[in-house]
Amino acid sequence: MTSSPQIADPHADLPALRVAIRTWLRDHEAELQPYRHEIVGDIPQMYTHVRPLQRMLCEAGWTRLGWPVEVGGLGGSAVMRAELMEEFAAAGYTFPDLLATIEIMGPMLVKYAPELAAQHLPAAIAGDEVWCQGFSEPEAGSDLGGLRCKAVPTDGPNGPGFVLSGQKMWSSYGSISKRCCVLARTNDNGHRGLSMLWVDLDSPGVTMVPTMCETHRDDVSELFFDDVFVPLDRLVGPEGAGWEVVMYLLQYERGAYAWKRQAEMHTHLQEVLHQADPVAAAAHTTAIGEAYLAIFALRSQAGPTLGLLDSGAALGPGISIDKLLLGVAEQTITDTARNVLWPALELDDTEAAERWRRRWSYTRITTIYGGAAEVQRDLVAERLLGLPRGK
Ligand SMILES: Cc1cc2nc3c(=O)[nH]c(=O)nc-3n(C[C@H](O)[C@H](O)[C@H](O)COP(=O)(O)OP(=O)(O)OC[C@H]3O[C@@H](n4cnc5c(N)ncnc54)[C@H](O)[C@@H]3O)c2cc1C
Repeated sequence: MTSSPQIADPHADLPALRVAIRTWLRDHEAELQPYRHEIVGDIPQMYTHVRPLQRMLCEAGWTRLGWPVEVGGLGGSAVMRAELMEEFAAAGYTFPDLLATIEIMGPMLVKYAPELAAQHLPAAIAGDEVWCQGFSEPEAGSDLGGLRCKAVPTDGPNGPGFVLSGQKMWSSYGSISKRCCVLARTNDNGHRGLSMLWVDLDSPGVTMVPTMCETHRDDVSELFFDDVFVPLDRLVGPEGAGWEVVMYLLQYERGAYAWKRQAEMHTHLQEVLHQADPVAAAAHTTAIGEAYLAIFALRSQAGPTLGLLDSGAALGPGISIDKLLLGVAEQTITDTARNVLWPALELDDTEAAERWRRRWSYTRITTIYGGAAEVQRDLVAERLLGLPRGK
């Protein structure tokens, strides 16, 4: 089956889709020029910068591919969006990270709260609103089951729902988010006492405090909930099914997000080679080769994962391998850049150098967010290799 080169066709096969995307990218080269690189600004500036691109991609239909028609998509396979990310990066453009966060939360809404997906997904895809995740707390990260944020069932003047109170931290893009999926305790029954809520962050009682990071911007935020009323229809999945819902969501952080990043890292590695002094590059051929292999290892793992996710298969503990490979690749590429582009990367005032410094800083935490590497290694050791549990 073939597709028109200008139209996002949910029935196109992947080779035809690839041709269509490449043609569209070529035809829109002038409008896409500002998106060659991520901007060196703060988080609100980044949002202002990428919004027109998100709208453009949405109006052309590309970012609606693979989402069900019932929630505002065009239908077809989600793998089509992976293809889009790949082609985008291969053409030297930066795909909006905010769209990657939708790749993580969107499938959760589609599966567990399709009405909420229908209400909010179109605006998020078009760039009109941003979402964040509220799972981690000061005393709960790796041990997420120990979280304390409480959602007490209520049936007061506002109708049935929950009264949410507690604190979340490390919420990526929290400072620009309109909504947040909050994992909260609705009863004391261990993991079965957790529920997922879809919370409007402009609700009375919500306070957002940005956290300044080593990247010199507020990549993450703290969220405080002070008796916030959340209507019953904002429950994502059944009450008490929060653990299942969050585990489902995390698969997509390993899947679609890892795929986007491997495509971008490939472009970044080429950027290193273009920017490098040939003599300096020649002194680091082994490191450059290792960086390439790290990307390729991630790609080899993330590709099949995407296919499995698209088929609806449950991924199991093997998904920890994707997460580990992602962290290794992220850090290997920026460490290589730092060495090959030394000392310019450290000392120059150019935007390119600033961009590399930020990338390097951000990748220090890729072995922490979404599940620390040590914990992922434990999971691989115990659940995949059957090794005895450490003391
Ligand atoms: C940039 C960034 C973005 C983030 N974005 C979000 C977000 O959007 N939403 C959200 O909810 N959270 C987010 N997080 C939080 C992230 O998921 C947690 O930081 C992570 O799960 C680790 O939890 P913690 O920070 O509480 O560390 P801890 O769990 O306290 O771990 C501290 C150290 O102890 C080690 N450790 C802990 N338990 C074990 C174990 N059983 N075996 C071996 N070692 C162990 C860990 O590996 C780690 O090195 C983000 C974090 C960062 C840094």
